[in-house]
Amino acid sequence: MEVPDKRPDRCPVCACPYESVSQHESGVMVNLLDNARYQRVCFDPIAEETGAKLRFFHHSHEQLGTEPGSERPACLELRR
Ligand SMILES: [Zn+2]
Repeated sequence: MEVPDKRPDRCPVCACPYESVSQHESGVMVNLLDNARYQRVCFDPIAEETGAKLRFFHHSHEQLGTEPGSERPACLELRR
């Protein structure tokens, strides 16, 4: 796992703010159960000179105005 140097301002999948991004070049396991810190993670596949990578964009509950176990709106800005 690596943290990419060049990061977009917004998540390329859902266009919402994100807390952190990680980049993976091999298989990963994802736990989709309720998480106390993160509301969701978006996955964005990219192609680089060294091969295919998968970026994980981590969205916190605080950023999206949700609480653990709450409904899953896209993000506050998209609700308007
Ligand atoms: Zn996203």
